[in-house]
Amino acid sequence: MPANTKTPPRKTPPRTRTRRAATPYPFDYLDAIAAWRGSVQGKSANQKTGPILTTYSHPATCPATCPLYGGDRGPDGSRVDPGAECYAAAGYYTRRAWAGVRLTWSESLAKIRAARAPMARGNVAGDIIHAAGRIVRGAAIEWAAALSKDGTRPAWTYTHHAPTRENLDTLAAMADAGTVVNLSASDPGEAFAMMAAHPGHPVATVIPADSPPVIRDQDGRRIVTCPASRREGVTCGTCGGGRPLCARGDRDYAIGFPVHGAGAGKGEARMRAATARAAGVVA
Ligand code: SF4
Repeated sequence: MPANTKTPPRKTPPRTRTRRAATPYPFDYLDAIAAWRGSVQGKSANQKTGPILTTYSHPATCPATCPLYGGDRGPDGSRVDPGAECYAAAGYYTRRAWAGVRLTWSESLAKIRAARAPMARGNVAGDIIHAAGRIVRGAAIEWAAALSKDGTRPAWTYTHHAPTRENLDTLAAMADAGTVVNLSASDPGEAFAMMAAHPGHPVATVIPADSPPVIRDQDGRRIVTCPASRREGVTCGTCGGGRPLCARGDRDYAIGFPVHGAGAGKGEARMRAATARAAGVVA
């Protein structure tokens, strides 16, 4: 048999590799990133926060489950228009600032990182980026790291997203990235229930306007009224002697915000009814 009639060795086909997407975000959340809009105030003029870094996120970031919601909803149930009872929509300036959010996700992150403010309060209005109630983990952690400048300045925010196991895991990862996330309750009874159900996650809540400085339940849990609501001249910038109470992830009490503004009457009525129904609120 001639040499050149030998069967040639079989070539191993090149291995096909599954390419990983270059983006850090899960593919199905890309729409949330693209649709997101926000604003950044490098030195806020808000009298309550003081001259710190603040941000706003578009009303569509508010979850459909927020009980303070009262406006129109988008097709996925998220808010497209603030409702009257929402504290953020009740204040004239806050509402105006909220309506003016224009920055894209990447523009916002760049501006947050460039700001020299010594501390940051994320989402004076609006909530953490989500897709149908699931917090977009990669994006949320990136935002948390930017807000805290990689843990070099106190940073905090609040969320009304449902405390599912998945969302709570993401909130813990955001805290690791330097931003403390307070679970938002809608009345003192719910706040105490959240403290009991989710230890390790700080809680904040709205409270009736005439609440005492400290509200307790029968198990000794406490809700401490935000000092800026009680004392003239206190702001987030001066709160806690430079360690803002809302930025303390390890505190054993919730923060209470007295209702105010246009939605206060409706909010108080709902809150008093809910608090009356809740077991264990003693003062
Ligand atoms: S408790 Fe302190 S940090 Fe929190 S909102 Fe009030 S003043 Fe700001």
